[in-house]
Amino acid sequence: MRQYQSRETKETKKELNKIICNRCGKEIPVGAVPSEGVFSVDYKWGYPSEKDGQRHRFDLCEECYDSLLASFKIPAETAEE
Ligand SMILES: [Zn+2]
Repeated sequence: MRQYQSRETKETKKELNKIICNRCGKEIPVGAVPSEGVFSVDYKWGYPSEKDGQRHRFDLCEECYDSLLASFKIPAETAEE
């Protein structure tokens, strides 16, 4: 989840203030960049899903991401980039 702070200037600008992990509620402060790794999902479901037309957005802290992946029966594919 992304929390924005409105700054009153000529045009009201929304600045990303902090990212909150949707799973555990941990707050990750955002300066120039987030202070730790964040897994961000922004997915639009399509046909033939029962969620067709719904857009789902959430953020996970690295610890919750690791827990999620640990629950996989088949590990995620990883590669060095
Ligand atoms: Zn978390």
